[in-house]
Amino acid sequence: MAQLSDDCFAFGGPLLAVEQALALIAERVPPLPGAEPVALRDAAGRVLAEDLRAPIPLPPFFNAAVDGYAFRHADLSPAGETRLAIAGRVQAGAAASGITPGTAIRIFTGAPMPDGADTVMMQEDAKEEAGAVILPPGLKRGANCRPSGEDVALGEVALEEGRRLGPAEIGLTAALGLASVGVRPRVRVGVFSTGDELAEPGAALGVARTYDSNRFTLMALLRGLPAAVTDLGILPDDPNATARALREAAAAHDLLLTSGGVSTGEADHVKAAIEAGGKLVFWRLAVKPGRPAAMGVVRPAGGGEGFGTPVIGLPGNPVAAVVTFLHLARPMVLRLAGAGEETLPRFAATADFAYRKKAGRREYLRVSLAFGDDLPVARKYPREGAGLLTSLTESDAFAELPEAVTQVAPGDRVRVLPFRAVF
Ligand code: AMP
Ligand code: MG
Repeated sequence: MAQLSDDCFAFGGPLLAVEQALALIAERVPPLPGAEPVALRDAAGRVLAEDLRAPIPLPPFFNAAVDGYAFRHADLSPAGETRLAIAGRVQAGAAASGITPGTAIRIFTGAPMPDGADTVMMQEDAKEEAGAVILPPGLKRGANCRPSGEDVALGEVALEEGRRLGPAEIGLTAALGLASVGVRPRVRVGVFSTGDELAEPGAALGVARTYDSNRFTLMALLRGLPAAVTDLGILPDDPNATARALREAAAAHDLLLTSGGVSTGEADHVKAAIEAGGKLVFWRLAVKPGRPAAMGVVRPAGGGEGFGTPVIGLPGNPVAAVVTFLHLARPMVLRLAGAGEETLPRFAATADFAYRKKAGRREYLRVSLAFGDDLPVARKYPREGAGLLTSLTESDAFAELPEAVTQVAPGDRVRVLPFRAVF
């Protein structure tokens, strides 16, 4: 379990900048201890627990990169054509013998280079006639072949501890011949929603109820992370029930996520519940949408004093919950999972809209992207509400307006965070 000290998130300022929140997480949250072996076919999304050193070079042997003719470069005449007798043939998977000076070997992609041969002429560039091959001049020594170890040298660290294993990393690990890898434990994340107004999808809606969407969004977001997720349901707007539920869940989880109930309304009990069961830091993040977020640690029921399980109370409005998930919960999960720092993807786009904002906070506008020959064009979603779920389904990215910016004019360059690439 992540056992964080009570005051690990202590922060005195009034509004916390996103970068400060990220720095606090990076500095104060230790990765979960432990490692376990996992079969490579189950390793996607997990975090490497140790440096992965290459037990073999990659490629394992000197081989042809194309279909063609292997020969000694010294036999190629620098000016005119060269005619070499074809002395043999080697296919992928077959062993090659040596090459006799003044001859060529018919070779295919992935086949081992004959001893002594150092260059391959592509079949498209050569002419074969009467058991010989005619090679034009001008090819460089070593062309069209792949030396052993050119990709990864024997013993080299191919992937560092803390790397998340995506398709590329899994492929590299397989190419190195490893059937299993040592990975960090998954972060056990418990997800609650809070609010008397929330109904469970599938159940009757009832009067003055709205279906819980955040819990499903958050659980889906967590699927892309090295997390083991528990659905902990909906908490009523009741301070004691909330405090009890958090303390009970703290025992079996490394992180608790809630949404809703973190503002300063009378029915907002998450902060008090964290306070009752551990230590609260109320983070007023300098971000819109998403300003209120509660952070803290909760001591497990029956656990010792002073340490506990981290809790992040995300805001209730669905768009605010997503924005704060990306900036607080995602880095927290990655950090607990021992993953190296992974910033969110961002690129430049041209705004096609005008917008004014306050200085001192970062704003995320929902935009759709049109790709052409030039920079992508960011079109703002026409409505602003942080509760509009379709503003996310109908958009591709957040335009990220930095703290210092106060206005955007059409044609301005803006930074966009393509949330679909993260979701
Ligand atoms: P709160 O911060 O609890 O006042 O919530 C702010 C808004 O978000 C209210 O309109 C809530 O009904 C809504 N909300 C809170 N939690 C959820 C949820 N899990 N799913 C959908 N909407 C929610
Ligand atoms: Mg509420």
